[in-house]
Formats: sequence, C-alpha cells, structure tokens
Amino acid sequence: MQYSFSDNSNERGESHMSFERPKEIFGVNVFDKKVMRERLPKEVFRKLLDSIEGGQKLDPGIADMVASAMKEWAISNGATHYTHWFQPRTEATAEKHMAFLTVDETGIPLESFKGQELVQSEPDASSFPSGGLRATFEARGYTAWDPTSPAYIIKSKKGGTLCIPSAFISYDGTPLDTKTPLLKSLNAVEEAAMRVLKLFGNRGVKWAKVTVGGEQEYFLVDNDIARKRPDLQFCGRSIIGSPPPKGQQMEDHYFGSIHPRILSFMEDVERDLYRLGVVLTTRHNEVAPCQFECAPQFTEANLGCDQNQLIMETLRKMARRHNLSLLLHEKPFADLNGSGKHTNFSIMDSEGRNLLQPSSNSRKNVQFLTFLGGLLYGLSRYIDLLRASIASPGNMHRLGGNEAPPAIMSVFLGKELTDLLDKIEKGLPEDLPAKNTMDLGLNRLPSIILDNTDRNRTAPMAFTGNKFEFRAPGAPQSMGGPLTMICAIWAWGLNEIAGKIEARMNEVDVIDAALDSIRFAARESSAIRFEGNCYSEEWLEEAKKRGLTMANTTPEALELYLIPEYRELLSSLNIMTDREIDAYYEIRLEQYVKTLDIEMSILDSMVWEGILPAISKQMALEKKALSAVPEGEFDLKPWNGYLGRLTNLKSGLISSIQKLDDLRNRVQPLKLEEQAKVLTEEGLDLFSAIREMCDSCERVIDHDIWPYPRYRELLNIS
Ligand code: ADP
Ligand code: MG
Repeated sequence: MQYSFSDNSNERGESHMSFERPKEIFGVNVFDKKVMRERLPKEVFRKLLDSIEGGQKLDPGIADMVASAMKEWAISNGATHYTHWFQPRTEATAEKHMAFLTVDETGIPLESFKGQELVQSEPDASSFPSGGLRATFEARGYTAWDPTSPAYIIKSKKGGTLCIPSAFISYDGTPLDTKTPLLKSLNAVEEAAMRVLKLFGNRGVKWAKVTVGGEQEYFLVDNDIARKRPDLQFCGRSIIGSPPPKGQQMEDHYFGSIHPRILSFMEDVERDLYRLGVVLTTRHNEVAPCQFECAPQFTEANLGCDQNQLIMETLRKMARRHNLSLLLHEKPFADLNGSGKHTNFSIMDSEGRNLLQPSSNSRKNVQFLTFLGGLLYGLSRYIDLLRASIASPGNMHRLGGNEAPPAIMSVFLGKELTDLLDKIEKGLPEDLPAKNTMDLGLNRLPSIILDNTDRNRTAPMAFTGNKFEFRAPGAPQSMGGPLTMICAIWAWGLNEIAGKIEARMNEVDVIDAALDSIRFAARESSAIRFEGNCYSEEWLEEAKKRGLTMANTTPEALELYLIPEYRELLSSLNIMTDREIDAYYEIRLEQYVKTLDIEMSILDSMVWEGILPAISKQMALEKKALSAVPEGEFDLKPWNGYLGRLTNLKSGLISSIQKLDDLRNRVQPLKLEEQAKVLTEEGLDLFSAIREMCDSCERVIDHDIWPYPRYRELLNIS
C-alpha cells in the first residue's frame, strides 16, 4: 500500500498519481467485522461479536485464537509491531510498541502474539499523570483491550504497527484514562434510555447507543516559517504578534475555494483516514485565514471519540509530510477566531432510529420530548459540569472571544421547540404539532425541514434539528471528557423523568404522564435556556440575574468538579469515584500551571534572545542615521521622540520580564492551587502587558531586524 502523497507529487503537493477510489480503500487497515468473519472460526467470531455488540465480557477462552488471527492479518499487511493504544488523562494518546518477533530457546525466530498480550499489557505507568492515584513506587498500570473499538494498523514508511484500542487502569483497578469513565457514562445513559423506551412500549429494541460526530477545526501554516517561532513550536500558539493588516475582516476565507496545497493535504488526510475506517464527510475553509475544518460521519460515541483522536493524529502526521505546521491550539492567533471541536451528539436505538428526531407521529414526538426533557432537567442541575469539562489553559483564551461560546453555559432550543415547551408548560395543547415542513414553492426543490432553520451560533449548547451540538470544547481536546459529563447529566435526567412517569403509570397513560414530566423539565430548565445572543452584554447581565455560574478562568472552572453534589452525581452513577475526581482535578490544574510556566519561559527567552537585541539594533541604526543629518536644518523632535519611545519600550520590557521571572520563582514553592491562583491573578496580566510591549515594538522595527516572522507572513500559504 502506498500513500497517495510522496509518489509523483510536485513541490506544491499536487499529485499526479492514479486515482484511488475511496470505497475501495475504505477500512483496509482495520481489523473489522468483515476481516474477523473471514479469519475466525464461526463460533469464535460469534462470541467476539457478542462482546462487541452485546457488551458481554470477552470469553478468555477465545483470546488466543483472536490474537493469532489478528497477528496473521497484521503481518500480512506489513505490521512488525503491536501496541496497546490508550488515552491517559493528558488528553493525548499513548503507545508503547512491541515487536511480534521473538526467538525461541534454540535461536529460531518466531512471530508471536498471545491472547494474554492482546487482552492486557503492562506499560510502565509512572510517567503518566495520575493526580496522586498511584504512587511512583507502584509504577504498574495495565492497559486492557476494548473490543468495541476495532484494532487497526498505522502504516509507516518501512512497516506498520497494529494498534489495539485499550483502557488504562492502575494496578488496583482505578482508571487512569479518559476512555474508562466515558464507557461507564455511556452505559449509564444507555440503560436510562432503555428504561424510557420500554415505557413507550418499544419492546423489540435491543440497545440504545449515544452517537457522536466532532467537527474538527485547525490552522495550517508553512512549516519553514513556523519553525522560526519558538512560541508556535513549544506553545502551539503565538504568544506575541501584532494582528495582520488584513485579518479576517473581509470575511472572504470562510467556505472560500481551498488553496491547492491545502487541498492536496486534505486529500491525503482523507485517504489515510478512509484506510482506517474513518469517513470524513466535510472539508472547508474556516473563518480565519489559514483555518480549516473537517467533520466525520457520526458513529457510536466510544468509537467516535477514538476516531477523533485518529483524525488529529493523521492531521499532525500529514502536516509534517506536506511541510506544514498544524496548530490545534484553541487560540493560536490573537484577534483571529480560535478553533473548537463542535461535539454533535444524539442517541440511536437498535432499529437505527435517532431518538432526538422530531416525528410526524405524535406518540413518537412525546417520546422525543421525553429524551429532550431528560437532558434539560439534568442540565438544569448540573450544567456547571459542562463548564468544568472544557476547562483548559488554551480554551480560556478562546471562550467569550466574541466568536466562541461564552464561559457561561446555556442551551438554545430554537423557536419551534421553545414555543412547544411553552405551550406544554401552560397546559396541554390540543394537537401536538408534528415536524413542520416548509414548502419552498419551487417545484424543482423538495420541501425542506423547517426545524433546523433558526440556528444560533452563539450558544454553547444548541439543538440543531435532530441532535445537540456542544460548541465549547476546544480543538485539541479529547471529546471523551465533555461527553462523559454530558452522558452523566443525561443519564441522571432520564432516570428522574422515567421515575416520575413510572410513578403515575397506574393513574394515567404514558403519554399524559410523560407530558407532565416534560412540563416539569421545561419549567426546571428555564434558567439555563436562552434564545438570544450569548455574545451580548445583556446576556451577561441576564445570566447574573438568573444566578448562573460564571467561571471565567480555568482554575475557577476546574474547581466546579469539587462541588459535593456534582461529585455525588459522578460517583452515584459509578462514573468516577470521589478519589478519582480529586485526582482528575489535580491533573487538569497541574496541566494549567505547567502550560502557563512554559509559556512564560518561552516569552522570557523570546524577549531576551530576540526582541531586546532587535530594539538595540534599531536604536543603533537610528542613532547612526541621525548623526548624519546636518545640525540645525531640520526639526528632529519627532525622530528623537521615536528613539525615546524605543528606549522606553526597552526599559519597560526589561523591568516587566524581570517581574515575570520573579513571579515564576515566587510560585515555585507554593502548593498547586496557590500556584494556579497567583499565576492567574498576577501572571496573566503581566503576560499580556509584556505582549503588548512586544507588539508595539514589532510595529516600529525594521522588517530585516525583527527576529520573528510576523502574522502576515505566517498567515499566508504560498
Ligand atoms: P455544521 O453545519 O454544524 O458545521 P457539519 O456538517 O460540519 O455541520 O457537522 C455536523 C456533524 O454532526 C457531523 O460530524 C455529523 O456526522 C454529525 N451528526 C449528524 N447527525 C448526528 C447524530 N444523529 N448524532 C451525532 N452526530 C451527528
Ligand atoms: Mg461544520
């Protein structure tokens, strides 16, 4: 198998190679059900399928046979190694490659992969953050195969690695990853959904699964230029830089025609992902220059989260190959839009029905409203957990930036649904409106569904016709974190609503009982529902009046995890124990503090190594030029003023950067929470003051002297 790039592409990345039909390469690198059926004895295949689809524990008796089939398949596809692929709580992924090759006692080479090695592996866990869950002396951690997400091969130039999606747990069984809590939360919401489905008489339904599709935004800049900026290299964002003369004001980038070099990159990304069984269905330019987006076809949530990790990895890998630099940061450039990961979700039953789809049948519509009501009621109590789940050092720069959702969490339902809930609240409407359609009056065009038309792009959480879209997660985040919280909240709400319906079933029929609960959920959730512009000042005031939580900084948002009733929710649903929540909080806070420290140290070095010397060079240049001007003939005041300004900037920078150094030293001995507090309260302001000075310098210093590529050079793909 060859990559389509690398063959005959010219230096602009335009490929002349023969066309690879997506359908033909789809899934070729995945150990999927088709391969399993071909390569496994019937009985083994059936048992494996039971644990994939029915959630049954894997029969240990078949592990050896599955491992052997997997190994043969992987080796025949060029793999030399295997790895358990897991997601520690850093939000990244981790892998430790093991060779298939071993030698026996007589020195004969063998390719071996046993059932035990498939099911469980034991990487040294001591270097992954555990937030005190595991002492370093007890370094053992286990990875355990998750058969619900298929194994796949990542090809490399000279071979390939069989990747086995896995959970990561400590020696005493405490989860250390983002996958395990997600799986638990999915179970919780799926159980609750089955309970509701039963109430509505859906007897034949075997399962209900959460579905997810994440829209991935990203920036691409030329790597030769990006490499000259330590901030892009080490922080993933520009920590200095003055906005370009032409940023996104013209609004001509969004949905514009895609630059050929970028298109070629996207095509290679898509081809690789097709091979891995991921379907990318959309690709387009985003609002900011050099910003793009792709979105996959939605799928079952656990797989969808794994696939999003694969999408990010593939983007990263392919960028390198195209000599581009991928920026997945939430806010790589000041004054330009940041990048998010809109997390679309819904729930589907075993008949393939989307349970958040409004229906033309009024019984089904009440069922839909019950699922909606469950989420709304859950959110009315626990919406703060959503804010906590998207707290990261980078997202703080993005949220509330008048292009991303604000830090206040709320839900938008659209006029139609809001009107309907209002009607239900006031009393039972005679006729429940079924799904509206709007006839366009053009006979060449079909009727379009109306319920999707009033989109509000300012709300953190929005109903978009037949699914919800959570817009607050940042681009580099694992979807697992936010989705775990959404599922926990939804599971709780659905169970409460189901309980209320069940309690009344002997007095009234299910429809009336459900409508009462929907009315209750509508009323309870009124404070977190908002249909207006979430970017406006009025909303800020209104949200204050409503008593909604405003956690503007990352430490404030993370602290929400520690509120007793929220902890109680997660532990009562068996999603995270109390101890795990403490640990999770600590890991995220530590990540915040470390990120701030890295950014400060990079700023420090950029100022000392690049900017201060540049000011001196400019001053020397000006002084020399000034000395060549004949005395008395000209008004030199402005010129001297300019020199004075440079001198002021230089002094200001030196003293501020020293203050920053002092601050970094001062926080060293403090406890983690104190560090976070001081860095947030004092460090952030100081940081932006220094940035402002740097940017002022940039605007008045010679292009050849300025040590770093400017925004306008970075944001221009040649
Ligand atoms: P937008 O107009 O919001 O930018 P996109 O087409 O870019 O929409 O992305 C929408 C995402 O939502 C896709 O990844 C799509 O697969 C996903 N999606 C659609 N329906 C569902 C569903 N029922 N459950 C989960 N995700 C869904
Ligand atoms: Mg989109």
